[in-house]
Amino acid sequence: MAQFWKPGAERPRLIDDEEGGVLFYASSSSTSSGIGYSSIEKQRQRLPVFNYRTAILYLVETHSTTIIVGETGSGKTTQIPQYLKEAGWAEGGRVIACTQPRRLAVQAVASRVAEEMGVKLGDEVGYTIRFEDLTDQNVTRIKFLTDGVLLREMMDDPLLTKYSVIMVDEAHERSLSTDILLGLLKKIQRRRPELRLIISSATIEAKLMSDFFCISKRRKGKGAEEHGPRPEPAILSVQGRGFNVQIHYLEEPVSDYLQASVSTVMLIHDQEPMGDILVFLTGQDDIEAAAQLLTEEVQNQKKKSSRLIVLPLYSGLPRAEQDLVFSPTPRGQRKVIISTNIAETSLTLEGIVYVVDSGFSKQRFYNPISDIENLVVAPISKASAKQRTGRAGRVRPGKCYRLYTEEYFLKEMPAEGIPEMQRSNLVSCVIQLKSLGIDNILGFDWPASPAPEAMVRALEVLYALGILDDDAKLTSPTGFQIAEIPLDPMISKMILSANQLGCSEEIITIAGILSVQSIWVSIRGAQKELDEARLRFAAAEGDLVTYLNVYKGFLQSGKSSQWCHKNCINYQAMKKVIEIREQLRRISHRLGIVLKSCDRDTEVLRKAITAGIFANACRLETFSQTGMYKTIRTSQEVYIHPSSVLFRVNPKWVVFHSLVSTDRQYMRNVTAIDPSWLLEAAPHFYQHQTANYVAY
Ligand code: ADP
Ligand code: MG
Repeated sequence: MAQFWKPGAERPRLIDDEEGGVLFYASSSSTSSGIGYSSIEKQRQRLPVFNYRTAILYLVETHSTTIIVGETGSGKTTQIPQYLKEAGWAEGGRVIACTQPRRLAVQAVASRVAEEMGVKLGDEVGYTIRFEDLTDQNVTRIKFLTDGVLLREMMDDPLLTKYSVIMVDEAHERSLSTDILLGLLKKIQRRRPELRLIISSATIEAKLMSDFFCISKRRKGKGAEEHGPRPEPAILSVQGRGFNVQIHYLEEPVSDYLQASVSTVMLIHDQEPMGDILVFLTGQDDIEAAAQLLTEEVQNQKKKSSRLIVLPLYSGLPRAEQDLVFSPTPRGQRKVIISTNIAETSLTLEGIVYVVDSGFSKQRFYNPISDIENLVVAPISKASAKQRTGRAGRVRPGKCYRLYTEEYFLKEMPAEGIPEMQRSNLVSCVIQLKSLGIDNILGFDWPASPAPEAMVRALEVLYALGILDDDAKLTSPTGFQIAEIPLDPMISKMILSANQLGCSEEIITIAGILSVQSIWVSIRGAQKELDEARLRFAAAEGDLVTYLNVYKGFLQSGKSSQWCHKNCINYQAMKKVIEIREQLRRISHRLGIVLKSCDRDTEVLRKAITAGIFANACRLETFSQTGMYKTIRTSQEVYIHPSSVLFRVNPKWVVFHSLVSTDRQYMRNVTAIDPSWLLEAAPHFYQHQTANYVAY
């Protein structure tokens, strides 16, 4: 409410006051549909990068690596690939690649560029994300893809020969895959001097990237500089025009940032002139909760109800809803978009004048000591806060409402985030590098070195999974097969074990379901219906077996959306599961796996599950009345998540697929097991604790 704000303390401030950044602005406000060719052309020319078109093309021509820094919305992602194509970089069957850390950004940007070029998405301009390939090998010239997908492509084509230019976009995010990719691209560059790299981002520490890619010393003295591109990176900074953004802080800290963001939106809606609002929350759950609260508030507040359109934005949002977010706000109405940090820099939303910044985002954290990785709601950095603020100043002067105090911002908020590499479980990363023939992983040239403890843990698990041998090389065939499957190695291992145990039909269904965010629809206030629906499918063996019941029901209903609706099941997610399953079926076929069903023999099924996720085994503490479990390996306290069908059932031994942490560590996707299966699945891993198990 109003008392959050410092009374009379509306000190207008440029955001570069204390944070050392400059706010850029692109003068056009573009709308997306029904525009003729010349109009799109004009819009393109109004973007700040347009002034640098010649400079960019010159630098790319003459340098192996070009680093481009420019404020969000200046046109880096949508324009630079088009400039490159116009300049001939896609001739002779070559392809221009542009990577993004986020799937949703890949889709949105690709469809925007296809629209600008007046071509069908999937033809000249296409995109690839995991389990979704909208490209045509013979026709696609500009390809957007996640950095993870580009890493996978290296398994078939280690030098990425079809690409003439690779633009690693959003490099400041320092996602795990981006960092691995940067390290590998540096190696590729040495073998393919004709390849050009563009590293682009909103805020990058250009110097750090430049130092990383500087290979001039190695080349010196051979006269190589005279021909071909110069090895030292070029740095280009795109300047734009900025609008002031006033920053408001809270007078006192709040405990409930969700409620505070809802009140703040209502405050803006009541008191501020027209202009769209962008709210930064952390994930699908709190975004949907806030959207619902806002919708209720608006309904209660009759007078302006028709003028506030509430829209969520998070990855996994169906296409139709994504399009709403990007479509222009109807006259006389106000849009409020409630988003994860995807709208921080990856996507440009037009018409935003007000930003509400909760000060939090969901971040991955891994602790190698406890061997626990989870997604936690954690404070953002100053760099992020500044980016969020900047989103308010694109069309005219804006306002940013920070749901934290100025003192907190100045004294406690960290300046920069930590690269994901240094806060992730490295199992997938290690297997990826190994499969590309990089054996000395600790000696790999990383943009930021991973923690040695995390590396040791990863090697240990991979060894136990039978993916690495005593010399830390990929085993044949298991290791190589697992590297081929585009899933978490533990799930891939499940599939291979299922092949031996005769339940691969079921396990690929489970793998498909674990690859989508959630198959349940959760509607605030309708928890009871959801719980009842879950009970209808519940299996005593746990959540993964429950999923098989859901899948079976879905098939029996003739894949009916009504059936899904009736059972609180997300129809879109189920359709996706069918698609992913189909791809996994094809991959299995390629690996020589003949799919077989175990006909509901849940014991073999659970053995296959255990063979994949044995490292996540837990035992119920017998003295505990609260359902406390401890992980076998590191004795961490964990609990079954209330959304699990085993919540309150508390079987003695379980394995889980993932953890979420709120007030406690909660296990999700839990399966009841027999402890002897752990020894079968990973004798070395659990051997020394055998005595304990037997005694128990
Ligand atoms: P950058 O990568 O520098 O942040 P972009 O290339 O993503 O900038 O965006 C440049 C401009 O293109 C934006 O200012 C916006 O007007 C327009 N734009 C980008 N994506 C979309 C979209 N999905 N719908 C409509 N306009 C878009
Ligand atoms: Mg961009």
